[in-house]
Amino acid sequence: MIKDISALQIFDSRGNPTVECSIKTEKGKFRAAVPSGASTGKYEAIELRDKGKAYLGKGVSKAIHNINKEIAPLLKGKDETKQEEIDRLMVELDGTGNKRKLGANAILAVSMAVCRAGAKAKNLPLYDYISQMSKRDRIVPCPAFNVINGGRHAGNNLDFQEYMMLPVGAKNFKEAMQIGTETYHILKEIIEEKYGKDATNVGDEGGFAPPLDNPEEPLKLLTKAIKKAGYERKVKIGLDVAASEFFNQENYLFQGKKISKEELLDYYLKIIKKYPIFSIEDPFEENDFDSFALLTIRNGAKIQIVGDDLLVTNPNRIKKAIDAGSCNALLLKVNQIGSVSEAIDSANLAFNNGWRVMVSHRSGETEDTFIADLAVGLGAHEIKSGAPCRAERTAKYNQLLRIEKELGDKAVFSKLN
Ligand code: PEP
Ligand code: MG
Repeated sequence: MIKDISALQIFDSRGNPTVECSIKTEKGKFRAAVPSGASTGKYEAIELRDKGKAYLGKGVSKAIHNINKEIAPLLKGKDETKQEEIDRLMVELDGTGNKRKLGANAILAVSMAVCRAGAKAKNLPLYDYISQMSKRDRIVPCPAFNVINGGRHAGNNLDFQEYMMLPVGAKNFKEAMQIGTETYHILKEIIEEKYGKDATNVGDEGGFAPPLDNPEEPLKLLTKAIKKAGYERKVKIGLDVAASEFFNQENYLFQGKKISKEELLDYYLKIIKKYPIFSIEDPFEENDFDSFALLTIRNGAKIQIVGDDLLVTNPNRIKKAIDAGSCNALLLKVNQIGSVSEAIDSANLAFNNGWRVMVSHRSGETEDTFIADLAVGLGAHEIKSGAPCRAERTAKYNQLLRIEKELGDKAVFSKLN
């Protein structure tokens, strides 16, 4: 039974305030903290910020107040294993459809802490508890390491936001980490040799942020690093274009020039031919379901097309994308929808339509490792948690190493090949 709920303003990896919730039950105290995006989608659930002077408007005291004064009285005495009911009660109390009254950051912090408390009540590891809720077999996901940062996550002029490497040929998560870290360090040497020491400073997600503007240059650097590391057969490349960030009414401002969606599509088809690209996220802006579909069709469904800002982990938008054939994979960010049970529903909608699911961190993260257990419990194919660098990123990867070890012979690593 939930005995007490309280919230605290803590800080994320960018030094911005965020919400942490603590829940007390007979079994102990359970905590969860929420992340925050920079290239947020227009249709995401609303993160409540105080505005005003303190913390440059980014304080979360209103969200904290809402947990302490509105949500706590509603949930005290409730059974912590009734995740769906608890999430529904909070959604109803909010009553806005996009959580703007209580704040998605307030609701999600409580929802994740309740989930941890529920797992303990059932004496299950968090991933097993989530697996029971999602009715999916556990899978240890393949990591997607974001090793070159651009867009909103870096101080360079790269239009594309993320260049990732996916060790799709690894036999398990441990090997995927070895491949990822070795290649990451070799990439660092290559960047330093070519662009100097300054170019190896890292961006928000731990990837390098060299002073580049040509979007093909990171693909060249990455291909070279993968080859030098000896992992050509095991590693593929993923992109998060985050195209809404350089979209302007009708055109894309790409490499300093206005280009049309047709030209951007041609560009993708060209680079897909040239480089070992496995996955492209948000290739077009967040309202363009049709161009997403064109790319999905034109590449013969060989490439994974992932919807992030397009879908915002929202079942209504996922349904629309399924009907339009826009994607074949969902990027799942818990704070885009704002509760654990709604995130599970979104994942299951994607799975039931033959899509893959990539669980994702946000560019502003905390040390909370919830999404590592979530990915395993959902049976998600992939997880992106940044580069294998910066503790808020490696926290999730390290938790997956622990889970894989704990599962022992029963660990099943995601098969993407
Ligand atoms: C993303 O766009 O996939 C991402 C992780 O960035 P952000 O958290 O800034 O939205
Ligand atoms: Mg994205």
